Amino acid sequence: SIVVTGATGHLGRHVVEQLLAKVPADQVVAVVRDREKAADLAARGVRLAVADYNAPETFDGLFSAGDKALLISGNEVTKDRPAQHRTVIDAAAAAGVALLAYTSAPSGLTAALADDHRATEKTLLASGLPYVILGNGWYHENYTEHLAQVLDQGAVVQAAGEGRVSSAARADYAAAAVAVLTGEGHENKRYDLGGDEAWSFAEYAAEVSRQSGREIVYRPVSAEEYVRALIGAGLPEPVAGILGGVEASIEKGELTVTTGDLARLIGRPATPIADAIGAALRK
Ligand code: NDP
Repeated sequence: SIVVTGATGHLGRHVVEQLLAKVPADQVVAVVRDREKAADLAARGVRLAVADYNAPETFDGLFSAGDKALLISGNEVTKDRPAQHRTVIDAAAAAGVALLAYTSAPSGLTAALADDHRATEKTLLASGLPYVILGNGWYHENYTEHLAQVLDQGAVVQAAGEGRVSSAARADYAAAAVAVLTGEGHENKRYDLGGDEAWSFAEYAAEVSRQSGREIVYRPVSAEEYVRALIGAGLPEPVAGILGGVEASIEKGELTVTTGDLARLIGRPATPIADAIGAALRK
């Protein structure tokens, strides 16, 4: 079987959807916390397994020898994610899984956000499992999901200076994961994944202007101001701090990925940011 954790998350849903285009539904196991949330997948013949990264016993017997699996990193950034991920890796190793792919971050990322990923990569390498590290770059959606606010403010407010990001659509990263899970020859590889073109926030603002017909500017702010604004908008302080760290990494070019791995794995160009902006504006 092909086992996907985080299957009811944004990325996981894309992965399952794309897997269903390639393999019979009964070969796909969606690991979910809430069966209800995955009722639509069950109705289509996907097998469900209910498990929680915080409860190791829920992973007992979940994997079978020879499975290929995708561990989608958790989103509880203030919890001990390395321990959560270790739970999944230990269960996969005990079962004799044939391949375990993990959604990590690009290798050059020094932001605190990457610490959990580095720790998980270490666990994965030490497990002896055949692995694939998917060094996922930033999602287009991290920005396009906030377009309403940008249009309201007439500004893209970030703390990344002139830094450039080679983001790609979640669907593109999902396609890369599916290529690895259904293809051959990916054992023990690391891929650094990102879009084909890096863009700056000034360019992003200009593209939003062009497509919306509104005047949108880029307003670069300091990391402190950015973090304060996030806290003001209701984000917990530790989360805001982590996002502030990402801005600094973008300014340093750490989310510019130039490997070409993503387009190569998916066999087509990645989705341009302009397309993601267009899709978000039409919503
Ligand atoms: P989502 O937040 O949409 O999905 C996270 C998934 O992880 C959900 O399915 C969630 O389950 C599952 N999950 C969280 N905690 C647990 C747990 N304790 N036990 C079992 N499952 C758990 O994120 P995305 O799908 O957009 O992205 C996937 C991951 O990539 C994120 O979790 C994060 O680690 C990372 N990320 C990457 C970004 C990037 O730009 N590259 C940006 C943001 C995050 P449930 O459906 O039940 O909530």
